[in-house]
Amino acid sequence: MSSRFKFEFIAGGPALNFVDTFGNRGGEGRERLVSVAAFGEWLARAGLSDGTPRMPADTHLDDARSLREAIFRCCLCVIEDRPMGQGDIGQLNHAAAKMPLRPQLQDGGLFLVGANPVEAALSVLAEDAIDLIASPRRARIRQCPGCAMVFEDTSRPGKRQWCSSASGCGNRAKVRALRARRVLGQKDV
Ligand SMILES: [Zn+2]
Repeated sequence: MSSRFKFEFIAGGPALNFVDTFGNRGGEGRERLVSVAAFGEWLARAGLSDGTPRMPADTHLDDARSLREAIFRCCLCVIEDRPMGQGDIGQLNHAAAKMPLRPQLQDGGLFLVGANPVEAALSVLAEDAIDLIASPRRARIRQCPGCAMVFEDTSRPGKRQWCSSASGCGNRAKVRALRARRVLGQKDV
């Protein structure tokens, strides 16, 4: 599926994929939820849309970005073993308390419904964030040293450091290490 928007779903779960809609946090930052349409596309690609053409509104976009940043700050606190902010906790709890998307069987397939679909989708994302933060999986929340992306290390050894070993920062780090070794090698000769 091609897209005008560059969304990635490599953070390990819905809540952290959502956090990743703001990229390059270690640098100048890159907002990927640039518009209501982009947010609508992300919801659809994340499987958090009821498939109807109802577009999110501007207020939904503000709510989404605000919840996203609260999740991000909570994750940073977990990584750095600091207490989470009361305001951020309140925001996650508030979103999670709303009625989430509910599954319905339609034409033999799954169809998600919600009276307020965007609020319901944000409820699902807040729930996923709370599940992660309140479980032993919290010890697997990492931040990539290259791009500052937050992700869950789902590898068995639990030693993953970089956001993506295939094509992202980890790969670039390997190339840099290889170059450094070559330079050292040349000096040795
Ligand atoms: Zn990275």
